[in-house]
Amino acid sequence: MNQPMAITIRGLTKFYGKAPALRGVDLEVGRGEIFGFLGPNGAGKTTTIRCMLDLIRPNGGTIRVLGLDPQAEPVAVRARVGYLPGELRLEDNLTVEGALRYFARLRGGRVDWGFVRELAERLDLDLKPAIKNLSHGNKQKVGVVQALMHRPELLLLDEPTLGLDPLMQHEVLHLIAEARAEEATVFFSSHIMSEVQAVAERVAMIRRGEIVEVAETASLINRALRRARVRFGQPVDGKLLGNVPGVTVLSQDGTSVLLQVAGEMNGLIKALATLPVRDFETERPSLEEIFLAHYESDLGEAK
Ligand code: ATP
Repeated sequence: MNQPMAITIRGLTKFYGKAPALRGVDLEVGRGEIFGFLGPNGAGKTTTIRCMLDLIRPNGGTIRVLGLDPQAEPVAVRARVGYLPGELRLEDNLTVEGALRYFARLRGGRVDWGFVRELAERLDLDLKPAIKNLSHGNKQKVGVVQALMHRPELLLLDEPTLGLDPLMQHEVLHLIAEARAEEATVFFSSHIMSEVQAVAERVAMIRRGEIVEVAETASLINRALRRARVRFGQPVDGKLLGNVPGVTVLSQDGTSVLLQVAGEMNGLIKALATLPVRDFETERPSLEEIFLAHYESDLGEAK
């Protein structure tokens, strides 16, 4: 079976009591993609992921994961997926090794223990201590190892770098990229925009149970307004640049002018060619700024 989509979700709705958590979510993730799932707290990311594994039942809509209906074939779906939940429950009295061997048994023994050791080493995770003595970050590492241990076709990772120090966050991103290089699909939610920008080829942004944007990460950033700072050799009337189509003058400070540019830079560059320019810098917004622009009102309310 050559099924091109790793995940297809149509019109997914979920209510908790009367409160809507998902209001018609549509998503498509292709095989072999690294896909970032972004949204503020409570937007519906975890609910979407849990529906994909039939850990909770939606009220409406359809889901296909690796071509399978998770409600009809939950065991088959879970066998082919590596899942890192937001809150992984681990048995306190087991050692790290004991917990990982337990997860390996759940996978029907299809786990190469050498690979588990390699993952643990790379994440600087000691296999000997008891789970109850682990820090939050080390528990998170156990979660990452159990998600990856059986080299699944699809990784569903809910905040994979949560609680990890920057070095380990970096290592997890490496592991994600390596899984992708071995043709796995990676779907991960995150609050850390720089990491999504670094590894995700496409992103979806969810807000109050609805998808507000799905785009290639690079095009999202390219499409956004750019800022340009121009320093002149002598005072000029910066306002004149505001007549160039797509250009807005944000501020002028002596011989320095800050501009916002929509679309092509060509018009601005032609206008500047007639002026005594000493220095010219442009800056693209980060994914973080784009995210904040989408969610400013929500985040304001949350505060
Ligand atoms: P976070 O980033 O905080 O984990 P999220 O995007 O994963 O958030 P969800 O956990 O999916 O969001 O929650 C979506 C909405 O559903 C929120 O309003 C949340 O309060 C509500 N919700 C989630 N789980 C339950 C539950 N078991 N019972 C009642 N309401 C719930």
